[in-house]
Amino acid sequence: MAINKTWHSKNVLGQKASLERRIAWHIAHQKNCGCRPVPESIRQEIKKESP
Ligand SMILES: [Zn+2]
Repeated sequence: MAINKTWHSKNVLGQKASLERRIAWHIAHQKNCGCRPVPESIRQEIKKESP
């Protein structure tokens, strides 16, 4: 999978980012870049957020 370096440089997820921010980041990441899949733990949280 190709990495969208432009998107990554504009969207850096810090180590101290909240869960809410991580979820938003991964949703946006999935749409803009395919370098890695959404982790299972985040996927579970997305399910909880959107029934
Ligand atoms: Zn990526």
